[in-house]
Amino acid sequence: MGNHVRMLSWWWLPVWMFALAAPVALGVSLMYHRVLTHRSAVISPLVAYPLVAIAAPAGTPVGWIGNHRHHHRVTDTPDDPHSPGEHGFWYAHAGWYLGARSVPVCILYSVAGPIRMLFDAWWRPRTGMEFAHLARDVARDPFYRWLSRPGPYAAVVVSHVLITWSLTWLLFGPWALVVLYALQVGYFVLGDAVNSWTHLHGDRPFRSDDHSGNVAWLALLTAGDGWHHNHHVFPTSIRHGLLPGQVDPSYGFCRGLQRLGLASDLREPSPEMLRARLVNPRPLRSDVRPLSPRSQRSR
Ligand SMILES: [Zn+2]
Ligand SMILES: [Zn+2]
Repeated sequence: MGNHVRMLSWWWLPVWMFALAAPVALGVSLMYHRVLTHRSAVISPLVAYPLVAIAAPAGTPVGWIGNHRHHHRVTDTPDDPHSPGEHGFWYAHAGWYLGARSVPVCILYSVAGPIRMLFDAWWRPRTGMEFAHLARDVARDPFYRWLSRPGPYAAVVVSHVLITWSLTWLLFGPWALVVLYALQVGYFVLGDAVNSWTHLHGDRPFRSDDHSGNVAWLALLTAGDGWHHNHHVFPTSIRHGLLPGQVDPSYGFCRGLQRLGLASDLREPSPEMLRARLVNPRPLRSDVRPLSPRSQRSR
C-alpha cells in the first residue's frame, strides 16, 4: 500500500464515486436520451451543456442521437444496429460500436473503461455517424455541433479521463484508482445493457411489437433508463418509470429543475393513455397516480 499522502479518508470514497457517477448517468439518461433524442422536455443550457460535456464519453451528441432515433424506427428488425435478437448479445452490447463480431473483442472493449474512453476519443467522431442526418436539429445547436467534431470531442473526452484520474489520485491515493477504473467500466457495462439486456429480458406490462423489457435493477443504476419497455411504448415521455413503484431518478431530477425554473415542457402520457396500452389494465384502475393537468401537456 505504501505511505502515500492522501487528503481524504476512504470513508469519503463512495461519496466521491457517487459525485462522479451521478452527472454522467443524468447526462446520458436525461440529456442525450430523453431531452435531445426524444425532445421530452426543454432544459436550460446552464444545466444541459455541462451535463452533456461530462457525459461525452457516451459518444458525440450528433452520432449518439442519430443512432438512437434510428433504433426506435427499426427496433428489433435486421436494420436495428443493436438488436440482440437479430445480431446476438455481444454484438448488440458492444460489438456494434466497432463493427466487431468476435466475442473476446466485445468483452475486452466492454471492460476497458477509461482505456475505451481514450480509444473512443479518437474513434467515435469518425464512426457510427451513418444516421447523423436524423439529428440535424441537434447539429443546429452550436455547442452540440462543436462537441461532435473530432478535435473538440477528443479534447473533452481525454479531459474527462485526466480530470477524474488526477483528482481521485490526489484525494485518495493510487489505490483508489482501482475503484475508479471499476466505476468507469460500470458506466459502459450498464449503459450498453440498456441496448442489449433489456431487449432480451424484463417485464412487458404494455402491448408492443418489439422485444424491449423493464429491468428494475438496471433502472436503479441507469437513472431510470432500465424501464426500457415503458420507454419504447411511450418514447416521448420524460418519465420512464410510468407505473406505481417504478423509481425514476432522471424524472425526479427533471421535476426538481422544473421547480427551479430550469426545465419546462415536460411531456407525459395521461393515465388514460397508459391504461389504453396496458396488457392487463384492471389492477391499475385505482392505482395510477393522478397527474396534474400541467404535467399532462404533450404535443
Ligand atoms: Zn429512446
Ligand atoms: Zn431499445
